[in-house]
Parts: sequence; structure tokens; C-alpha cells
Amino acid sequence: MSLISFLIALAFVVLAQGASVGQDERLRYDNYSVYKVKFETQEQRSFLKKFVEDRDNFRLWQETKDELHLMISPGAFSEFESQIQKTNVSAKVFIGNVQELIDSEDEANLKASRDGSFGWTKYNSLAEIYEWLDGILATYPTITESFVLGQSYEGRTIRGIKISYKANNPGVFIESNIHAREWITSATATWLINEFLTSTDELVRNLAENHDWYIVPVLNVDGFVYTHEKDRMWRKTRQPSDISTCVGVDPNRNYDSHWMESNGASSNPCAEDYGGPNPFSEPEIQAMADYVSSNKDKINVLLAFHSYSQLLLSPYGHTDEEFPPNFDDLMEVAKAYADAVESLPYGTTYRYGSSAGVLYFATGATIDWAYNEQGVEISYTIEFRDTGRYGFILPPVHIIPNAEEALVGIAALIDKCQELGYLELK
Ligand SMILES: [Zn+2]
Repeated sequence: MSLISFLIALAFVVLAQGASVGQDERLRYDNYSVYKVKFETQEQRSFLKKFVEDRDNFRLWQETKDELHLMISPGAFSEFESQIQKTNVSAKVFIGNVQELIDSEDEANLKASRDGSFGWTKYNSLAEIYEWLDGILATYPTITESFVLGQSYEGRTIRGIKISYKANNPGVFIESNIHAREWITSATATWLINEFLTSTDELVRNLAENHDWYIVPVLNVDGFVYTHEKDRMWRKTRQPSDISTCVGVDPNRNYDSHWMESNGASSNPCAEDYGGPNPFSEPEIQAMADYVSSNKDKINVLLAFHSYSQLLLSPYGHTDEEFPPNFDDLMEVAKAYADAVESLPYGTTYRYGSSAGVLYFATGATIDWAYNEQGVEISYTIEFRDTGRYGFILPPVHIIPNAEEALVGIAALIDKCQELGYLELK
């Protein structure tokens, strides 16, 4: 073999192995692209999902009713193209080089870090969030209270904050960053905490003081740390599998409610939506479930923050033939959120519907478990910005606009809940 052909072969091996590890030991995504693949039939969808499921060269980013968003390594483009032709679907690239977005995000984070350790012009690490939380708890000792959901698989503490200005308020629970790479969620949750405590705006004061807030800024703590230190694109938990070398479970498919029914999660440990070996296999999800079930009488509304797609999703996730008893109310409340967000100068639009109706079957998710098993009648998944320009790597300049949208959206949602009688004490 000549030197040239050896080098070509070597380059091919490196590309074929998928993301490479750089000097700082973080996975690099040089020339990885993300495609929107439009399908028409469920057979096409199942085929494509199966095709990418346990392959290093492909990763599922997002799926909607008629689209899959797939990240593809540069070494797998030709294989991808031939599958596209074979399946007879159309594909369009929307991110040309994932690493470029990660690099700009790193730069923005570095620049903001020079001006101080915590803020909303960058994405903060778990250590920074927890240190900031300690500061908040020390500054507002009578209004705030620290709580602990439990310990993660790797032994990290999953922390929450309760904000309560007076007795007998209805309760709102906010779960955030259950999916590790969805950084905009914890950025938004921490911004909301700050607003509830410091804003002088009348709308915010009413919202903050007349409700009890239970906020968990980072639920999937192990996955979140892993996205900061090793792999920006990690989604799942970090517990190893007994039956596979693939690590982690999709925590938002791990709750014990219609678990694994209707193909609402994958049984393949390598899939991004792997439901786990059994419901509540993940200590983080068991901890969350224990906390919510022992406080369910205090929780009127549960919101689970996710990204991306700009959607409000209500139960059910397991069927699109049946709808929850208060579905009309759930849609009216969701519309209030979407209208409020759209009325801001940004003009961002949100769609809404049931998970199974708008998206696809998804079972074992937080909101379905809270609704079906715990009687939390108002529960939504909120998928934040954007619709795919940046996807999970949303530039930090979007943090405050996105958080402002969440604030006015939640205020309108809560108002509508009040009007419809969902904020009575249980
Ligand atoms: Zn998510």
C-alpha cells in the first residue's frame, strides 16, 4: 500500500468511527450535518428510525409527525443518500457543520465567563447553577426553601428550589433538563427563578407571589455534566446497560405509565428513546416520581421544559384515538400560552396538541405519568426555541428572549387555569 492510499484509508477509518475525541477530550462533530427528512408513511418512519438506531454515524435529533431530524457523520453521507433513495423520502440539510455551532457556543460561554461566573448570556455548568442556587437561598431565606429529589446514578445530588411567598397558594412544578443536551431549559428555569425573586413588574409579582413554585433546574444531572465535559449532543442518563455496551436510558420514557406501549419508546439500549430495562430503572426518575407523588396534593400544574420545536404538548402520549377527559380545557390553556408568546415583539409561534396527536407515540413521559397516575390535571411538555435553525445548540443570545416568552406564556397559562378552576387547593 502506498503512503497516499494508506493515508486515505486511515482518514476513512477515522471518519467511519464517528465523532472524534479532541485534545480536551470532548467529542468533536467536525462536518457532521443535520438533515430534516420528510416521510409520508409510518413504514418509512419506522424503517429510518430502525436504520439509525444503533449506529455511531447517525443520531436522531428530533421527530415530528412528518419529519425526522438526523445528525450524520461525514463518513456516512453516501450510505445515508442511498437509504434516502431506497426509502423514497426527501431530505434537506439544515446544519452543515455541527462543530461550528459548538465552537461559537464555546466562544460565547468563554467571553461571558470573563465577566462573571453566572448569568444568562451563556450556558452555565451544573456547579455554577448549584453555586448560584446557594446564593439565592442565602439571600431569600424566608421565601425560598431548598429541596433534594435524590441522588443520580453517578451520585450527584438532584436539587430543587421552592419559592413560596405565603400560605395556601396553588402549586406549579417545573421540571427542566431531563434531556441532557437541551441546555436552553435550565437557562430558562434559572432565569425564571431570578425573575420571581427580583422583578418589580406587576405581572411577575402576581405570578410569583400567588403561587408556590417547585423548580428543578437540572433533573438529569449526570447527562448534563456529560454534555458539558464530554459530549455536547448527549440526551440520555448515564447508567450502563446489563445487555449492551450502549449507555443510558431516555429518562422521559422511563416513568411507569403505559411504559413501552404502542411503540412509544425503543427497547434497544442504543436508541435515543430507549425506555430502559423496566419502568423507573433510572434513579433520577424514581426520585422525581417519589417527590411528585408525595407532594401531589400541592401540585396543580406541572410543566416539563424541553427543546426544540416550539410546541406545547398535553397528554396523552400513548394513543391518538382517545383524548384526556379535560382535553378541551388543556387546549384552551395551551392556546393562552401560545397567544401570549406570539404577542411579544419576537413574534415566535408555538403549536399545541396532545403528544400523540401532534408528534408521535411517546410513553413513560413525565407529563403522562403526572396526569394519568398522579391526577395532575394540567400538565404539559413545553418544547422551546427554535424550529431547527440551531436545534439544541441554540446560541446564548436566545436565552433571555426564550425565557421572556416562557414567562409571559406561563403567566397566561396560569391565568387561564385560574379562570377554568384548576387552581383550587386540593
Ligand atoms: Zn427533550
